[in-house]
Order: sequence, then C-alpha cells, then structure tokens
Amino acid sequence: MYTASKELLEKAKKEGYAVPAFNAENLEMVQAIISAAEYAHSPVMIQTTPPTVKYIGAETMYAMVSTIARMASVPVALHLDHCSVYEDVISAIEAGYSSVMFDGSKLSFDENVSIAKRVVEYAKKRGVTVEAELGTVGGKEDNVTAEGSMYTDPAEAEQFARDSGVDMLAVAIGTAHGFYKGEPKLDFDRIEKISSMTKIPLVLHGGSGVPEDSVKRAISLGMSKVNFATELRCAATKGVRRVLLDESVIDPKKYMGEARKEVYNLCLEKIAMCGSENKA
Ligand SMILES: [Zn+2]
Repeated sequence: MYTASKELLEKAKKEGYAVPAFNAENLEMVQAIISAAEYAHSPVMIQTTPPTVKYIGAETMYAMVSTIARMASVPVALHLDHCSVYEDVISAIEAGYSSVMFDGSKLSFDENVSIAKRVVEYAKKRGVTVEAELGTVGGKEDNVTAEGSMYTDPAEAEQFARDSGVDMLAVAIGTAHGFYKGEPKLDFDRIEKISSMTKIPLVLHGGSGVPEDSVKRAISLGMSKVNFATELRCAATKGVRRVLLDESVIDPKKYMGEARKEVYNLCLEKIAMCGSENKA
C-alpha cells in the first residue's frame, strides 16, 4: 500500500530497526525495490533526487510508485531526496510524495531553520513528513569530504529540531555520498548524543559501502532511515552492461530485466542490514 512516511519512521524508531530508503531512477528499479520489500515483508521508502525528478517528472514518479504500491502487500512511501529549492519541495508535496527532504545544509543555521520551518508548516497540513539536514554529509554531490568541522553538533541539532519542527534529521557523523576510498569511520558517540537530545528519527546518508556492523550499530543508536543510492545505480548498470556485451541483443526488456534482477538482489541484502525484515 502507498503510505505516509511518518508511521514507517515511528514504528522503526520504536522497534529499533531502520526503514531502508532506496533511490530509484526508472520503472525497473521501482519494481525491483517493491518486489524485494514484499519478499522480505519489509516496509520501504523509494526516493528520488531532484535530477531524477527532472528526468522523470514528479507526477509521473508518483503515479508509477503509488500504482505499484497499491498492488503491494507492504507499505511503500515516496520521498524527495536532497532538495534545496523551496518551490521544488512544494511541487513534490503537491504531486503526492509521502515525504520530502529540504536540504539547507549549505545555508546558515538560521536560514536553514527558517526555510525548514516553512516547509513543515506547508507539509503538515497535507500529512507529509519532512526531513532536513544539519552539518554536511560530504561526497560526490558537492565535492566536499566529511571533515570534522562539518559534523553535526548535538546541541545545534537539538535546537534545530525544536525550532524547525522537522520529523527527521539527516546528520553528518562520518559517512559520505558515493563510494569510499577507505573504510568510513562513523562517530557513534555523536549519533547517540544527537538521538538522545533531539528525540526524533535520524537519517543515515551515504549508506552505500558502509560495513554491515557499522550500519547495524548506527541503527541501534538512533538511525531510523538508511539511504542507499550509489550501490543501486551500480547494480542496475552492471546488469545492463553484462547483457549488452552481446551485440545481437536489441530488446530493452532483456537488459532492463537484468538491471531489475540485480537491484532486487541488492535490496534484499540491504533490507536485512536494516533489520526491517518481517516488520511490514
Ligand atoms: Zn544524501
């Protein structure tokens, strides 16, 4: 069923697992994600970055996800990932998204709070859940590495959560977007502190490539949503590339079908990592 994000997050926080949030780029990825969630009896979030929304269209994405979700036996939410433009956040809400992320991490603290607050005011009336980011999760999206100075400050996070009224918060604790060169070192004390001070569900960005025990420990300390994007893109591309080595293949169903299989298998792995199996 197509669902609100808030219920998924609250149940996850209460029961100590995380909602897996997978970035999808096309129909086959949406199908793969929802099928994997059904197989594992897991709740799931599908998310799109602004470039993906631009590529597919928010209304089309909503139509696709909500239609497949209504036929599914598990709760499925659609989320807007990393949007820094207020108007585009509003458009996604209007299109029917279950939740939105307003990313004001590059703004000053006060500006970030003030726009996040406006988004919350708009979203709440429509039953839409809001994520914001404080600190900077580095990586390929902005060519910034996750240095100590950009880590989220627990006291600031507490004030931010209170002043903005957001439902969930993305925090910078040592993960980064894209692939890691070495093994990422997560600041577990910081996660615990931020979680106990803000009391709202936290979001782990840059989940691709983080070792399983680190993800599990982060979840046990307060991460209620874990994002996976890079690895899914790679899995889809790997499937397509393998089939296309055979130059006689001309049917898109053949190679996109392989992409779907690869993404499906990866999602099962990540669902197990999030501990959300049989939580639907
Ligand atoms: Zn992110």
